[in-house]
Amino acid sequence: MGSSLRLPGLVDVHVHLREPGQTHKEDFASGTAAALAGGFTTVLAMPNTQPPITTPRVLELARQAAQAGARCDVGIFAGAGPDNASLLPALAAHSCGLKIYLDATFGPLRVNDLPTLVAHFNAWPGPGPIAVHAEENSVPLVLGMVAASGQRVHFCHISRRVELELIARAKERGLPVTCEVSPHHLFLTGEDAARLGAYGQMRPPLQTGDDREGLWELLHYVDCIATDHAPHATHEKALEFELAPFGTTGLETALALVATRIVATGVAGWSRVADWMARGPRAALGLPEVRIEAGGVADLTIVDPAKEWVVASDAFVSKSRNSAFLGAKLTGRARDVLIGGYFALQDGKVVV
Ligand SMILES: [Zn+2]
Repeated sequence: MGSSLRLPGLVDVHVHLREPGQTHKEDFASGTAAALAGGFTTVLAMPNTQPPITTPRVLELARQAAQAGARCDVGIFAGAGPDNASLLPALAAHSCGLKIYLDATFGPLRVNDLPTLVAHFNAWPGPGPIAVHAEENSVPLVLGMVAASGQRVHFCHISRRVELELIARAKERGLPVTCEVSPHHLFLTGEDAARLGAYGQMRPPLQTGDDREGLWELLHYVDCIATDHAPHATHEKALEFELAPFGTTGLETALALVATRIVATGVAGWSRVADWMARGPRAALGLPEVRIEAGGVADLTIVDPAKEWVVASDAFVSKSRNSAFLGAKLTGRARDVLIGGYFALQDGKVVV
């Protein structure tokens, strides 16, 4: 069986499970099975579905779909739309946070003007944080909103050196902000995008080598590594570069990429991986701690750190195969996942 190591159950705070509305790409059943295969016990789903999760009715629809299909713990973000600030108190009780899109992304869900942004900051009651897709000038804009409102804000998929530097300064000054980075921004750059074609088409885009180095230099300011798992059907990603939808799948490759390119290279040890992929996400999003039952940890990810494998498109549990890491040789993989003390992944097989 070889040696194994135990991590607190991993949490991915940023996934797109596409339900309701685009279940040809993914759904709660397939996306959470992919999460288990990647070693995660908990995922937080984004609201840019069809229709978007901006009303209590659609949130209830998504919750029912999750209850029926999900194989691991799931939280669902409410989305900020152009005219739903008055609904936020009703949305807050059953969602893990409010997602505000300030910059270009997949789908039409977006806040474009300052009065709407302010209205959402004023209306959101918590307890979940406000999560933002903010790039470039939107980062200092949101930091100003944090200072003015006192709201807790989580920055999604930070990709540029200057953005992470600003967030690091804000943290040092005591502002209640957290941030995540995604494996594709840690391990790929714009040069890879040229090779990858549509599979390298992301929002935020793959950045310069200097930006990537910036993320690595300031990694100790990063709270979470989150995948931004963005499944798309093969025929959709086969469109020309300019027309193809954004994003890469990530649930089934993130842990192994981190094991291969951060732990095995000596950049950081497994305890820091547990910070970025288990403890940090729980703290940043205000999620419950891992459960302890009968003297043992009940939410657990058991890793086989020596397992060698190659990312192949026919081996994904996800419905979609649009990985930017196809062909990558990786070392380390989730072997078992326990949720509440029960096996959900056993010897690499989803068993729930
Ligand atoms: Zn996303």
